[in-house]
Amino acid sequence: SNDYRVVVFGAGGVGKSSIVLRFIKGTFRESYIPTIEDTYRQVISCNKNICTLQITDTTGSHQFPAMQRLSISKGHAFILVYSVCSKQSLEELRPIWAQIREIKGQDITQIPVMLVGNKCDESAELKEVTQTEGQAEATRWGVSFMETSAKTNHNVRELFQELLNLEKSR
Ligand code: GDP
Ligand code: MG
Repeated sequence: SNDYRVVVFGAGGVGKSSIVLRFIKGTFRESYIPTIEDTYRQVISCNKNICTLQITDTTGSHQFPAMQRLSISKGHAFILVYSVCSKQSLEELRPIWAQIREIKGQDITQIPVMLVGNKCDESAELKEVTQTEGQAEATRWGVSFMETSAKTNHNVRELFQELLNLEKSR
């Protein structure tokens, strides 16, 4: 089929749902509403064809292990989100990244993965992870990197565009 499945992982509160809602609906909310697991679909054009971009917004760390494995096996691309205001949230991505590598095996080199430092709009004194540190982590993992803000809409469209470009260029 022409389904292109993107899965969004990251600790609770880093802004996964906010990034997805900003991209799909163009909205942002200040309140925090924990997610179960939601999938959004958007029809896009890719390589002169019509295909369905399917974005799965996961719960974060409290996901059922079986559900997490299933999302990983079905995923064509991954967005791994941390908050630039929480070093801990970056650390929490490491086991998820390890599991993605384990499940995808050798195919991993063919799979677009983006490490995303969200909430880059926050003031400097609240930041715990610099852009340089985020980029260095991504380089160690061998994945792409971007800082975003769902709040100000910084780099949100670019994030999904870049994932689709990585897909095309493989
Ligand atoms: P999730 O648990 O990862 O899905 O996180 P949410 O999308 O529910 O966001 C958690 C909280 O962070 C909410 O209060 C959001 O308003 C806030 N938030 C999300 N993205 C941003 C952002 O880019 N900048 C700022 N300042 N706050 C954000
Ligand atoms: Mg959420």
